[in-house]
Amino acid sequence: MNAELSPGLYIVATPIGNLGDLSPRAAHVLTHAAVIAVEDSRVTGKLLNHIGVKRPMTPYHDHNAEQVRPGLVARMATEAVALVSDAGTPLISDPGYKLVRDARAAGHAVVTIPGPCAAVAALTLAGLPTDRFLYVGFLPPKAQARAEAIAEIAGVRATLVIYESGPRLGALLAALAKGLGDREAAVTREITKHFEEAVTGTLPMLASRYADAPPKGEIVVVVAPPGPPEAASAADADLALAEALTRLSVSQAAGEVAKTLGLDRKALYARALELRG
Ligand code: SAM
Repeated sequence: MNAELSPGLYIVATPIGNLGDLSPRAAHVLTHAAVIAVEDSRVTGKLLNHIGVKRPMTPYHDHNAEQVRPGLVARMATEAVALVSDAGTPLISDPGYKLVRDARAAGHAVVTIPGPCAAVAALTLAGLPTDRFLYVGFLPPKAQARAEAIAEIAGVRATLVIYESGPRLGALLAALAKGLGDREAAVTREITKHFEEAVTGTLPMLASRYADAPPKGEIVVVVAPPGPPEAASAADADLALAEALTRLSVSQAAGEVAKTLGLDRKALYARALELRG
């Protein structure tokens, strides 16, 4: 057992590009963990090198997780097991949730060491509403599945946060412009690195900008929520009232239409009286 850390699972966020973003607490856990579960030991090895530490690493990724998870969970009874991903926060479009689930089920302590996450960093760069956002992760790469996924979230009244790679950015933006219209958006790239940038504009503008110019590096696309629903027109109200008056009293018809079209009940009542003549 490690004297510095109690046994259990430690979820450790690591930098998404700038090694200076490793928190002192993350460095402490990585220095003292009995073993670090990693996606790629070369990537985490560089990070450990940066802080002058050598620790045992064991691979934990989509292809071996089922086999190695029970062994890792067993070790948590007496040892500090750290989980990192190649970059950012484990579990966020990266492996880990089943490890947390099984660690909890076995009664082990689960501790988080929060830190960099590309989704949150992109939101801080985009200049779009942040009060409600939907983290979408990666959309399906195939055109039809991607269009369906976009249609599914088109009505969500929240800013959307989408992960993508450079070569697929043009196709993603074209599909977003088609499915979501001319919403404001931001393409954020290489966050915390030398070429960090956020390019803003409407989805059609961004789609045309990147159509034949796939950018290099890692990308997060942030899309503004849909605008407020268009108010029903007077003609819409008249049509709905006329139909409702064939079935209901003036008062009931005004109530029903006020509810369905989101209009003022008193004004509709007056108009319904006029229509009934
Ligand atoms: N767990 C990570 C996190 O906390 O953000 C995400 C891992 S996911 C496999 C990798 C994706 O995250 C990339 O394809 C890209 O969309 C995004 N990403 C990671 N680092 C980034 C960076 N420095 N700039 C922009 N996007 C980044």
